[in-house]
Amino acid sequence: MKSTRLETLAVHGGEMRPPPERSVAMPIYQSSTFVTAGEEGDYHDIRYMRLSNTPNHDVLHRKLALLEGTEAALVTGSGMAAISTTLLALLTSGDHVLAQDCLYGGTHDFLTKDFPGFGLSVSFLSPEQPDAWAQLLTPRTKLIYVESVSNPLLRVIDLERVVAFARAHGLISVIDNTFPSPVNFNPAAMGFDVVLHSATKYLNGHTDLVAGAVMGPAKLVHRIKHKLDHLGGTLDAHTCSLLHRGLKTLVLRVRYQNDSCLALARHLAGHAAVAHVNHTGLPEHPDHARASRWFRGHGGVLSFELKGGVDAARRLLDRLQLPFNAPSLGGVETLITRPCTTSHSGIAPDTRRALGISDGLVRVSVGIEATEDLVADFDQALSA
Ligand SMILES: *Cc1c(COP(=O)(O)O)cnc(C)c1O
Repeated sequence: MKSTRLETLAVHGGEMRPPPERSVAMPIYQSSTFVTAGEEGDYHDIRYMRLSNTPNHDVLHRKLALLEGTEAALVTGSGMAAISTTLLALLTSGDHVLAQDCLYGGTHDFLTKDFPGFGLSVSFLSPEQPDAWAQLLTPRTKLIYVESVSNPLLRVIDLERVVAFARAHGLISVIDNTFPSPVNFNPAAMGFDVVLHSATKYLNGHTDLVAGAVMGPAKLVHRIKHKLDHLGGTLDAHTCSLLHRGLKTLVLRVRYQNDSCLALARHLAGHAAVAHVNHTGLPEHPDHARASRWFRGHGGVLSFELKGGVDAARRLLDRLQLPFNAPSLGGVETLITRPCTTSHSGIAPDTRRALGISDGLVRVSVGIEATEDLVADFDQALSA
């Protein structure tokens, strides 16, 4: 039975039928190499773990492509391996990239610190000024790079305009879709060429591995796989199996996190100690309309500022009992962090403030605990 529903695809999509040795759960093929069947093909088709083609990779690739609605998918050793390998595969020395100005720290560093050594260059575009994007183009601009939702203010760039701009100027459009996950948004359906994920976050969901994913047309994914074969940022079969298991509950987790995070956002927004909450599910968020139109849910991350500033934020983090004070996101446990001390600590304080990220800003990745317990924990920590 063929289904296009995400719940069914997460469980059955891409699986081997009948399953190997009648095993309902996919076994782990913990083998670096495989016996040749006498074929004399291309190097990249030899069955060898670094070439990302063990049975565990194959199943995962099929499932991920089905979830994101693309022709092909590829898993990588981390989200950064997906990002760096994709850019190095699609660009050659002399090429230029247009990128959104507020990006994941590792991506921003790769574009600014590692690009020059490869003869590559980048210009940063402001999501607020789409009319100025064209002025940044050079004859060697090849690619435009954005994120579906920015971190930690959860801004949503005009994604339809990015796709139209890429088409008008013959650019490859690449989007990091980590925050919404395929449950809330499928950028390929909107026209994006390549979709990237840190599978460390929602796709795995259990805070116990790092992995990445690349989804897109078979031709582009094939090119990126060849580069990955050479750079070596493969995901091993054992971690493939953990990620595969995490994916089966992706839809249940993210839908629950959507609801729980929205409830917490509303509660915090009405709390006397809270100055301001950032969550696209709240009507006062500047990108509420865009997110509501394009996304099926508003995601499991929110950020907020307390009226008491940095000191109040420090006290809150000390007093909360359920959330772990840790960076990262997308797992079953609620995590809380001050971006200025973790994800955005590499950015100069002035620049950080100019981006709207104050030292008192707190980011929460809502897990799958009972919403009532989280709300009660925030209440006790804020009232003390
Ligand atoms: C975490 C993250 C990355 C990097 O992923 P790793 O798995 O840590 O390499 C990239 N983009 C976004 C949006 C992320 O949250």
